[in-house]
Amino acid sequence: MEDFEADRDRLVDDLKHRGYVSSKAVERAMRRVPREEFLPDGLRGEAYVDTPLPIGEGQTISAPHMVAIMSEQLDLSSGLKVLEIGAGSGYHAAVCAELVSPDGHVWTVERITSLAKFAEDNLKKAGYAEWVTVVIGDGTNGLAEHAPYDRIFVAAGAPQIPKPLTDQLAEGGKMLIPLGGRYYQDLVRIIRRNGALEKVNLGGCVFVPLIGEHGYR
Ligand code: SAH
Repeated sequence: MEDFEADRDRLVDDLKHRGYVSSKAVERAMRRVPREEFLPDGLRGEAYVDTPLPIGEGQTISAPHMVAIMSEQLDLSSGLKVLEIGAGSGYHAAVCAELVSPDGHVWTVERITSLAKFAEDNLKKAGYAEWVTVVIGDGTNGLAEHAPYDRIFVAAGAPQIPKPLTDQLAEGGKMLIPLGGRYYQDLVRIIRRNGALEKVNLGGCVFVPLIGEHGYR
């Protein structure tokens, strides 16, 4: 049994040093979630290198610094309802679960069945099953059953903002979405205030494409 704790602490120290982790809440969450449990067996040893890694089906687990940036921007706290599009490994959902538990919940939609199963298994192994529900489907349609959401974030690059997602965002709610081309996007933050959508560009990022009815075909 490998001991990853020292590596995890070193990575979080580094993310703090580089300014990606700035709040106590995100720091605590990232020191607790075991990223090695969200990787295919052969890649566990790479868990605390700050890079995206392949998880099968041509998809990737996001780099820790991107999870940190998005978690800080989402401003998560206990009790919030969160919708993630693109469960992938389930890692980012677990970090969110640390931040919204015990009273909040994370729903995460994944279009590839084998990855939804992978995410669900990983979340169970790591102890987050109670706070995260993995749903198989096209997340560009959101998840109307549990709307509205306090926070929505998309973990794949979109050609435009899928309307169902902003429709399912609560008043005062925050959303993050990588917008742009297939290979390079800008991370955009959207806040719904008095029914209007305020948008801020947070800078460049690289995500796998969002594929679906309101994404890439
Ligand atoms: N958040 C993940 C990384 C996600 S990678 C993690 O922490 O590991 C992006 C994921 O989005 C991929 O698994 C991809 O299959 C999924 N995806 C792409 N388009 C989608 C859509 N329309 N609905 C749901 N999932 C989608």
